[in-house]
Amino acid sequence: MDKFSPTIENYLNLLYVMERDKEPPVGTLLAEILGVSPPTITNTLKRMARDGLVKIGPGHLPHLTPAGWEAARSIMRRHMLAEWMLSKYLTWSKVHAEAHRFEHAISPELENALIHDLHSPSLCPHGNPLPGYEDAVVEWVPLISIHQGGEGIIRRIHELAEDTPQVLDFLEEKSVMPGEHIKVLENLSFNKTVTVEVKSKKFTIGYTMARFIFLEPV
Ligand SMILES: [Zn+2]
Ligand SMILES: [Zn+2]
Repeated sequence: MDKFSPTIENYLNLLYVMERDKEPPVGTLLAEILGVSPPTITNTLKRMARDGLVKIGPGHLPHLTPAGWEAARSIMRRHMLAEWMLSKYLTWSKVHAEAHRFEHAISPELENALIHDLHSPSLCPHGNPLPGYEDAVVEWVPLISIHQGGEGIIRRIHELAEDTPQVLDFLEEKSVMPGEHIKVLENLSFNKTVTVEVKSKKFTIGYTMARFIFLEPV
C-alpha cells in the first residue's frame, strides 16, 4: 500500500466520512473542519487529483476515486483500531487526537494483530462504524429528533464532532458517552437547544452539538 503524508490522510478521512454520509464536501466546510484556508484546500485537492485520489466534479466538489476510497477506508480502520489501543492508556476524550498521530505509523502486520486482539470491533470508542460495518449504526437516531420525555442509550458521537477537543471534553465531563442512559427533559426547536439528564446531571446542549449525538431509543 502507498504511504501518504499525514495531511493527505486527514483529507482522505474527512472526504470518506462526508461521502459515506452523503454530505456535500463544500470547500468552506472542509476549510472550517480542517482549520486551514480555502486556497490551501484547493491546492491540496489539486495534488490529490494529480495522484489519482480524488476527482474534482461539478461545482468544484471533490469526490474520492476508487483508489482514494480504498486508501481512505484503510486509514479510517487504522485510526479506529489506534483509538481502541490508546484507550487503555488515555481517557475517552483524548484518544481521537492521539490516534491521528498514531494511525500513520500502523503497519499491515500490527493492523491484523490489533483486529485479532480487539475481537474484530465494528465500532470505534465513539460509536462510529469501522469501514464495512456501516449497518451497525443505522438504527440510531440523532438527539435533536427526540421529543420531551424521550429516553435512550447513547450509542454514537459522530466523527465530525471528534475533531473538536472542547466538544469531547464537554461530553466526557457530562458522561455523554456510548452506553450511558439519556433522558430528554426539553427540546426547543425554535431555540435550537435540548435539555437532557444523564447520570442525574441536567444540562442544555445546542443543536450544533446535539446533531452529532446518536441514541438507541428505549
Ligand atoms: Zn476518531
Ligand atoms: Zn472514534
